[in-house]
Parts: sequence; C-alpha cells; structure tokens
Amino acid sequence: MRDPRPAETRDFEGGLAPYASRASSGRGRAHPEAEHQYRSAYQRDRDRIIHSQAFRRLESKTQVYTNLFQEGDLFRKRLTHTIEVAQISRTVARELCVNEDLAESIALAHDLGHAPFGHKGQDILDDLMRDAGGFEHNTQSLRIICLIEHRYPDFQGLNLTWEVREGVAKKGHRQAEPLKKEFEGFPNPSLEAQIVDVCDPITYTTHDLDDGITNGTIGQETLGECLFWNEGVGAVKSRHPDLRGKILNYQVIRHIINAQITDLIAQTRRNLEASKPSSPDDVRSNPDKTCSFSAEMKAKHDDLKRFLYRNMYEHHRVKRMEEKAREVIEKLFHKFLSSPELLPASVQAHFKREKAGGNEKRIVCDYVAGMTDRYALEEYDRLFNLRSRV
Ligand code: MG
Repeated sequence: MRDPRPAETRDFEGGLAPYASRASSGRGRAHPEAEHQYRSAYQRDRDRIIHSQAFRRLESKTQVYTNLFQEGDLFRKRLTHTIEVAQISRTVARELCVNEDLAESIALAHDLGHAPFGHKGQDILDDLMRDAGGFEHNTQSLRIICLIEHRYPDFQGLNLTWEVREGVAKKGHRQAEPLKKEFEGFPNPSLEAQIVDVCDPITYTTHDLDDGITNGTIGQETLGECLFWNEGVGAVKSRHPDLRGKILNYQVIRHIINAQITDLIAQTRRNLEASKPSSPDDVRSNPDKTCSFSAEMKAKHDDLKRFLYRNMYEHHRVKRMEEKAREVIEKLFHKFLSSPELLPASVQAHFKREKAGGNEKRIVCDYVAGMTDRYALEEYDRLFNLRSRV
C-alpha cells in the first residue's frame, strides 16, 4: 500500500545497519536540489542513470563478443552485464542490511564509461591518449556522470549524490583524475560500493564462462582444468546424477555464482564482527576491505579468472575481433583529430573550445569512447567506404 506520509517523514531506511549509507544523512549533491516528493536521493540517482544516453548505449557495447562480427545475439552485452551486477549487488546489500538503492545506483553506473569493443577498445584509446592523460573506463564513467551527460539547465552531468560518485570514482586503480580529488580522504569507499566492486567480477567471470561455452570458445574438454567447474559438476551431479549437456552447464554456473555470493556474505559478516563499524565513515576509514571473500573462495575465484584468460580472453577468435576493433578505433580517432570539420557540429564546438587549452584530443576521445560498437562501425563505413552514404 502506498505510504501516505510526505517524503521527508517516509521510512526508506528501516532495518538498515548502523554502517549502512542513508540518503537522509548523505553528503548530498554538488548542486543542491530539493528532495523529491516520493523517491529517496539514491532512488533518484538510479533513475537518472537509467534515463541517461550513456546507459542506453550499453546495449550495443561489447562484453567479450560483439554480435556485429557475426558472432550471434546470444551473448552478454555491457547492458545485460550491468543489470546482472545490479541484481547480485542488491541481493548482497539487502542481506547485509545496507542500502540496496545505493548499491543498485553504483552498479548501474559502474560501466557507463566503457569504450566500444570492450576492454580492447579501452586499451587502444589509452594508447592513443598516452600523451594526453590516457583513457580508462572507470574514470570515463565518472566523466560521464559529472560532465558529459547534459540534460539539466543549471549544471553539467547528472548531479548525482556524493555516495554514488564515490562508488564510481573508487572503482579502478587510476586516481590521477581531478574529478576524484574529493574522494581521497578515505582508503576505502562505503560498504555498498565495496559490494559492487566484488559483485562485478563474480558476475563477469560466471557469465563470460557461460558465453564462452555457448560460443564454443571453451570446449567441454578444457572445462576439466577449472577447479570451480569440477566442484560445481560434483555438487550438481550429487543431486542429479544423470544430468548432462546444456542444463548441466547452467546448473554448474548457478552453483559457481551461488557459492561465491554465499561466501562473500558470510566472510563480510565476519569482517563486520571483527571491525565493528558504527557508521559508513568507519567502513571507509578501515584500511582493509570490509567486503571480501574468504581466503579459500578468493583462491577459487582467482583460478577461474586465470582459466578464462587462458581459454577465452586470449583465444584466437577473440583476438581477431580485437584486431578489427583496433582498425576501427585507431582510424576514427586519427581522422577526427586531423580533420575536426568531419565531427558532428556539437562535438566540433567542444573541440574548438578545448583546442585553445591544448585539450582537443580529449574531445575526440570522449566522442569515440561514447560510440556503441554499431555506431563505430557505421562511422567507419561512412568515412572510409567510398560507396557509403556520409
Ligand atoms: Mg563491470
């Protein structure tokens, strides 16, 4: 039933632990805004992220496979990856009595900055930007929510709360970006942000494994090299001894996800009992991560990652896709930088403004990084295929 009380007295935060983030006592937005009638600040952040252009573009950005090189439509894209991270993060946040809305918002924003063609796209742009500050997708996510999205008359960016921006800023390892300065005071972010940080690799390792098997990149004979896979087969077969094929694979994947989440919750509870934080800032001040796997689970998780590197990310078919991506991104970048008159009018305006300060490369980088895989290929075709419409 709809809560009839006005928003300021409505309880969005019942049942939260003392170390949970509360929208009502958060550090607020860079540009102060009145509270919404019936959504908390973190719920509102989630909705701003979902309505952003960058979020819609995740639909055609590569996770590992792109459907544009005839690999099929079955595989994860950045968007479905993001939704899976949000789902797992919400489950863990709820179980640990911290703010589910905050965890969800951070998860939905965490990959907004990905370039087309996945991690390879990032590495290529990073090379191209070497003398101009580099490129890294986590930092780019922060640029998108703070600067690049423009939908409000009074400010650039989405004006998200400090806690959501902190969660995005503290992901990744590069801290040189000026936008990250305001988050430097603590060694760690909120527990909600730490949850997303661990749920991201739980999500991608398991769905990449699933996609690799479906695509045929990872053969059944290779799966026996993966400790976690063997454990999962044992656990599933103890209940369903005759299971095989696709359903067995799905059930093993389920086991691997579930085992990691259950361990993460149990170990994080032990960590909380040991450190006894009484506020979100107590969690931030702790030099150790509060949200973590047990040592035993960390070893299995790392083994799974190494297995995927060996058998999937380094597979020759994935490498071939990456080489095509290099060709597209490098040629677009160099062309736009040397002939900015080919850029769309709004980007040209930015380019001219930034050229005065010697920062025009960043504008080309933002433009190329913002492209979906599909759009990058279309732009490539329009610019380099003589018979294509311009
Ligand atoms: Mg991710």
